[in-house]
Amino acid sequence: GNDKPLNFLEQIIKKDIDEGRCNGLVTRFPPEPNGYLHIGHAKSICLNFGLAERFGGVCNLRFDDTNPAKEEMEYVEAIKADVEWLGFTWGGDIKYASNYFDQFYGWAQHLIKNGKAYVCDLNAEQAREYRGTLKEGGKPSPYRERSVEENLDLLERMKNGEFDEGAKTLRAKIDMSHGNINMRDPILYRIRKQSHHQTGDKWCIYPSYDFAHGQEDAIEGVTHSICTLEFADHRPLYEWFIENLPVPSKPKQYEFGRLNLNYTVTSKRKLKQLVDEGVVTGWDDPRMPTIAGYRRRGYTPAAIRKFCEMIGVTKSDGVVDVAMLEHAIRDDLDKNAPRAMCVLNPLKVTLTNYPSDKTEVFTAAGHPNRDDLQSRELPFGQVVYIDKEDFREEANKKYKRLVIGKRVRLRNAYVIEADEAIKNDAGEIIEVKARIIENTVGNDPEDGVKPKGVIHWVAAHDCVDAEVRLYDRLFVDEAPDAGNKDFMETINPESLTVLTNCKLEKSLAMATAGQGFQFEREGYFCRDAKEPGLVFNRTIGLRDSWGK
Ligand code: ATP
Ligand code: MG
Ligand code: MG
Repeated sequence: GNDKPLNFLEQIIKKDIDEGRCNGLVTRFPPEPNGYLHIGHAKSICLNFGLAERFGGVCNLRFDDTNPAKEEMEYVEAIKADVEWLGFTWGGDIKYASNYFDQFYGWAQHLIKNGKAYVCDLNAEQAREYRGTLKEGGKPSPYRERSVEENLDLLERMKNGEFDEGAKTLRAKIDMSHGNINMRDPILYRIRKQSHHQTGDKWCIYPSYDFAHGQEDAIEGVTHSICTLEFADHRPLYEWFIENLPVPSKPKQYEFGRLNLNYTVTSKRKLKQLVDEGVVTGWDDPRMPTIAGYRRRGYTPAAIRKFCEMIGVTKSDGVVDVAMLEHAIRDDLDKNAPRAMCVLNPLKVTLTNYPSDKTEVFTAAGHPNRDDLQSRELPFGQVVYIDKEDFREEANKKYKRLVIGKRVRLRNAYVIEADEAIKNDAGEIIEVKARIIENTVGNDPEDGVKPKGVIHWVAAHDCVDAEVRLYDRLFVDEAPDAGNKDFMETINPESLTVLTNCKLEKSLAMATAGQGFQFEREGYFCRDAKEPGLVFNRTIGLRDSWGK
């Protein structure tokens, strides 16, 4: 809500608006389309779009597509869908850094003409050597003093494809002994003989992130360019370009701490490796920390937004407990998800005193305290399924389920008492013979012998079959990619359990793609949006240990 104390960025923006330094806030969310968005990006999205909402400004969606080698249209489309799904609307048309390639080229020529850029023939390794280390200053490239005419000509010929990849770069001419290594003649253009998803084969030189990002902001009138902390060292360079180019506006860069989650990796490169090596079924595998993965798993946009609000915005990096994200979705589904019964590991129970040709239909609330959620019809008959976990031949007092000679209530239906367990040749229990206690729907037994607990069930004659997928954490290690650990070695071999013989109350056959439910006593589940049959994904279990 808007009564919360302002975070440090909100304070800066409020001051800039109050003191007339900007009239109207413009932010941007600038993904590179080289993978699907992950939960870390959700933080940046909620931050940038949230600021625009709060201050009545706009937030642009801009594809930072300056490196064609790793970028694809599939990612562009997925990113758009994810931002919309989170509930945000970008300002105007979608922006692409590649829309500005002509302008960037003109600005490169402008820097050359002012003696502030040159074409350099050092290869990557030599350039690194010349750049020096923090302790020793760098030394000037032997190509640093080329004339303006020669530089303009060479840049033109780079653009025309006359040189091989890596043979030449365009570099800013700043200061080879600068205390900040980013200022030691950074690269502005590289030769890359690759076609681009937006510009095709028009270009074979592509601008660096540093030469593009601030100028993109300036072209779009971005007032506050918010990025993660690792770019703090690039800020002097960001400002150098804004000062040395005839840009139409003067944006400023601010940094905030990136989101890291324990038991998770948040790096597109690493997530891509999980996809490419078949550890998961795709970017939208419900175990992935991608927005598409969380969506398929049954997370709601409201829960992800709430989580981002809970973690707040700080000036330092930190690791957030994944249990906090789980708390956000559990809390949302507890309040909003309709209830239903699903027997994951069915065990047949025959009610020997209930006529085989008789059926009844009971009703159950859609949700314990949401009258707006439709009630459900529960057919009942002589044979029902209960979960294997809910029956034992003998048990101590702590076991509040069905035991031979003892009673349990079938939720929203009769109290029953078990008489006998039927076993197969292998000694496994395949059926239970039991009896209903008359007049116990909505009433306690008249003989005063109370049931020990309440269990869920479905009627055998009128239920639906489904597959249910149970997910666990994808990594067993709390910090899968910390230090020099190989995150691929910390993968949980039991992150997916598939149950193919589950029995669901029949109303669940009508569940829509992605619709979420609480399966009573089991957890929160949603109908898978991709599989054609009836498949449910476990979103999260019932118990919340966060903050306890
Ligand atoms: P990755 O390392 O996963 O590729 P990236 O930062 O290179 O991430 P971009 O597509 O450039 O990915 O990110 C778009 C925006 O999202 C950037 O402004 C970036 O700072 C922000 N962002 C990326 N990861 C996180 C994170 N973990 N927490 C907060 N913001 C993030
Ligand atoms: Mg990036
Ligand atoms: Mg990256």
